[in-house]
Amino acid sequence: MQKRWLPIVIFCLTVMLILAAHLAGRNMATPVFTFAEEEKEVYLTFDDGPSTVVTGRILDTLQKEHVHATFFIVGERISGRETTLRRIAEEGHVLGVHSMTHRYEEIYASDAAFRKDVESCAAAIRKVTGATPRVYRFPGGGRHPSKEAVLKDMGYKIVWWNAVCGDEEIPHASAQTLLETSATTAGNRQRVVLLLHDSAPHTATAEALPAIIAYFRENHYIFKTF
Ligand SMILES: [Zn+2]
Repeated sequence: MQKRWLPIVIFCLTVMLILAAHLAGRNMATPVFTFAEEEKEVYLTFDDGPSTVVTGRILDTLQKEHVHATFFIVGERISGRETTLRRIAEEGHVLGVHSMTHRYEEIYASDAAFRKDVESCAAAIRKVTGATPRVYRFPGGGRHPSKEAVLKDMGYKIVWWNAVCGDEEIPHASAQTLLETSATTAGNRQRVVLLLHDSAPHTATAEALPAIIAYFRENHYIFKTF
């Protein structure tokens, strides 16, 4: 192998390792396949918003493409962005809880702290939109048995993911890389839950979204929400 290829090979291996590590342990709840075998479905899920710029661009694309998605909201990011949050609800997307602060050490400090955090975020969403969230995504992912019991008790459905676009995992990823990573990590799964982010730094995600939607359409997926 020529030496000039070495950095590229190392880069590719690193990306693969990061993605493998990221997906490990992100087990989704056991899927129940009640649809015909040839039907494929993809859930676009956006975490960490709302943001002023990226969320709006994403909503524009979803509207243009007639696709609905699920948005997992960080409660303390709502203030000053109420119009954006309301727009998510008004355009038929699903709002979920993704914690009040996204600060792991506070959220996961105890079951009582966790419950309070979920309640605060849900209340903040309800206050602005009138909608009561029924789905939850753990900040940082992973399994949290006692917290899962709390959520079950509160009537929440927990949503993990089984594919990523790479917007958090690959630093400064281009829109093309995000498209390719979505396709690679989704593989040929019949049910894809794709993790994307709509917080402020993720302009490449907004840029990649039309191509990501086109990719899943071309591969005969239907778009669903939780
Ligand atoms: Zn997050």
